[in-house]
Amino acid sequence: MALPTSLSFELFPPRTPAGTAKLPGVIRQLAAVEPDYFSITHGACGSDQEGTYETLVAVVEHTGVEAVPHLTCVGSTREHIAAQLDRYRQAGVKRIVALRGDLPATAMSPAAPGEFHYANELVAFIRETHGDAFKIEVAAYPEMHPQALCPGADFDNFRNKVAAGADGALTQLFYNADAYFDFMDRCTRAGIGIPVVPGIMPITSYANTLRFCTSCGADLPRWVRLRLEQLQDDTPALLDFGLDVVTRLCETLLRNGAPGLHFYTINQAAPTLRLWQNLGLRVTA
Ligand SMILES: Cc1cc2nc3c(=O)[nH]c(=O)nc-3n(C[C@H](O)[C@H](O)[C@H](O)COP(=O)(O)OP(=O)(O)OC[C@H]3O[C@@H](n4cnc5c(N)ncnc54)[C@H](O)[C@@H]3O)c2cc1C
Repeated sequence: MALPTSLSFELFPPRTPAGTAKLPGVIRQLAAVEPDYFSITHGACGSDQEGTYETLVAVVEHTGVEAVPHLTCVGSTREHIAAQLDRYRQAGVKRIVALRGDLPATAMSPAAPGEFHYANELVAFIRETHGDAFKIEVAAYPEMHPQALCPGADFDNFRNKVAAGADGALTQLFYNADAYFDFMDRCTRAGIGIPVVPGIMPITSYANTLRFCTSCGADLPRWVRLRLEQLQDDTPALLDFGLDVVTRLCETLLRNGAPGLHFYTINQAAPTLRLWQNLGLRVTA
């Protein structure tokens, strides 16, 4: 298996006092395996940007590992985005995950309100205002973004983000390796050579896995869904089964050329670290 070149962990800003108290421990445990970076999500419609910033500072303070903010542009203005970019630059941030963000539930049109409508405009704005000061990651959807008209249109939109200056991409979660390989084939045919790192969501619960897949349009293979349903009241057995399924997925991806893995940790260290160990990834001190 080729050595992955990019291994990263995604965190979200905690929303409860208990989550806030737990986070430093989670960050320390995850940092011990020496990931390349932690990324920190940004609330929909630009909400909770303070939470993103505070979590970023916590990562740097507790670990010294690179911290990468997600930045959403939906509903925002150029002035507001410019201020956030300046603040991140002053804080020493070197990489940004640039996103449109989810539309408000009340949105009447698939185009985002505000001065930015799609993520490619945000990527172009970052390049226009900060040149190459930030490495830019964008989102990729091997199984198509749920609001896209069709896979072809969605891929053209991905290509626009790359043309605007994205350096790399992180995918939406998926449990079907073929969807990723098909996406990569399309990239090759389109002359897109940026690294596209699979987004990996550990399986820790039947209900959550169904919910995540439904909300982002990811296909949960029928046999996996049926087995999770069967095991839903036996947590240790479900965790073992989920670990096997996701380990095999990651092995298949890495063996066939995926340049790394981006783990959606949901602010829990154990499921991601079990996977990490199972895969024999970078050994810790
Ligand atoms: C790795 C990753 C991290 C994420 N982190 C966050 C986060 O921190 N906070 C958050 O709120 N959400 C996050 N999301 C979710 C993301 O914000 C949503 O999926 C959002 O709906 C789309 O964002 P995007 O940047 O992919 O948008 P875009 O690339 O702009 O695409 C959005 C939709 O518009 C279509 N589109 C793009 N350009 C055009 C055009 N010119 N004309 C017509 N249609 C077009 C696309 O096909 C797609 O259907 C993340 C997703 C991923 C995969």
